Amino acid sequence: MDSAAVRLRMVEKIAAQGVSNPVVLRAMSEVERHLFVDSALVNQAYEDTSLPIGLGQTISKPSVVARMIALLLDVAPSGRLGRVLEIGTGCGYQAAVLSRVASEVYSMERLQGLHDKARSNLRPLRIPNIHLLLGDGMLGYPAGGPYAAIISAAGGDQLPQPWLDQLAVGGRLVAPVVVAGGKQALVVVDKTRQGYSQQLLEAVHFVPLKSGLA
Ligand code: SAH
Repeated sequence: MDSAAVRLRMVEKIAAQGVSNPVVLRAMSEVERHLFVDSALVNQAYEDTSLPIGLGQTISKPSVVARMIALLLDVAPSGRLGRVLEIGTGCGYQAAVLSRVASEVYSMERLQGLHDKARSNLRPLRIPNIHLLLGDGMLGYPAGGPYAAIISAAGGDQLPQPWLDQLAVGGRLVAPVVVAGGKQALVVVDKTRQGYSQQLLEAVHFVPLKSGLA
């Protein structure tokens, strides 16, 4: 497959949906999403759809990955991110995109099978600033913080307190949360010296945030 050409078309569609940040669009055009999905799904890798990655989990839609990272960059003074905490490594795709816009990426996964899959997907790419962690992301990872950005690929009923605690002042968190009727919406939280400010954005559909390891 001429993956550069199909990836460019994917990025054009993402831009048409309103993501204009050139840093995000470049990162999305550089990371080869087809390397993160099973071989049977390779020809769907650049469609704007979530795809199964095993153990009942999914790789997020590219447009949603781009949208969430663009939201994080909206408040980054230098146009890039410092240390980032990602909850839900899954296959490692979003971590690879994040690694191109952030100084360090700490990515947590609670399922051993997917933690291992991400490790083997990422190994050949030799990305030095991704730290894969097997652990309950609801607890965050204080040793890597405080974080300029926290991004979750799994949605719970509320935001775990450790995420708020581990966010740096001036930092931003983007995550799905369950709202009325059991549906999910994206929530953005900014941490300031005075406290937190929260915005509820569009409806989204992510896998559930679960506690503990498996
Ligand atoms: N960013 C991923 C998306 C994976 S789907 C990618 O690019 O592929 C979300 C992932 O969140 C799933 O793998 C799920 O196992 C994981 N997850 C759910 N609750 C979690 C928790 N408490 N800690 C860490 N990972 C969690």
